[in-house]
Amino acid sequence: MTEVVEAVRIPELSATRRISGPTGTKEPLKVSVYERMAKAAAQLMPLFPYDDAGSVVPCGAVMWGGPDKSHGHFFHANTVSEVAVTYGSNEAMLDSGSIMATQKYHGVNSFLRDEKNPEAFVLVTVTQVQSTEAGQEEAMVAKCQKCKKEIVRHAYSAAAEGAPDFDPTQFGGKEDDVVRQFSTMVGSAEFAVIRNSEEGRTCKNCGHVNPPHNIEAWRWANMVGQTRVANDAHRALRAAAKEANL
Ligand SMILES: [Zn+2]
Repeated sequence: MTEVVEAVRIPELSATRRISGPTGTKEPLKVSVYERMAKAAAQLMPLFPYDDAGSVVPCGAVMWGGPDKSHGHFFHANTVSEVAVTYGSNEAMLDSGSIMATQKYHGVNSFLRDEKNPEAFVLVTVTQVQSTEAGQEEAMVAKCQKCKKEIVRHAYSAAAEGAPDFDPTQFGGKEDDVVRQFSTMVGSAEFAVIRNSEEGRTCKNCGHVNPPHNIEAWRWANMVGQTRVANDAHRALRAAAKEANL
């Protein structure tokens, strides 16, 4: 009898895994995903200002249907894993409260069953952990509506600050920027420009001219522009303070 009890003894607490405390370089922050997404500049907006190597980066997206809605369809390749958490949905492919690990190469659309239905909506976060090693990359891909062959593949480095291959000047960044551009956002905005060009729309395989991707549903360029202006505004204030000898 004594031997049986010995066999099921619970390991000592010292053997359990502990998450180390804050290092002091990043202030712990808490936000409401609902409040943030009510005022978001674009789909896939990072909820927190931390995106350097090793950071956990949750990004929010909120989509809803309507008679004039058109989200289109594209594909996303990512060398790091993504986890989608649905914070609320109706008539969507993603159920409220669901957690889903995406494939490294996956399709992206509105995730609504019928995007013309005004009652359909989804509020979701997509979270990735920034690699601390070189080689973090992403690609945005469009396929021909008619023959399904690739018409555009826009690949870009998503190396985070602190990773060996991080380039602070990528995406038009400047050394004294106070807000970094988010690589996925810039890559997606660039993809939309290429995808909507005459060449990008025309399939080399079957000649079909694909309709433009609806940029309004995603607003990537909007966030890229706002980030650039926020940095320029901070520079302008610093210059004004210098002029006033402050
Ligand atoms: Zn085609």
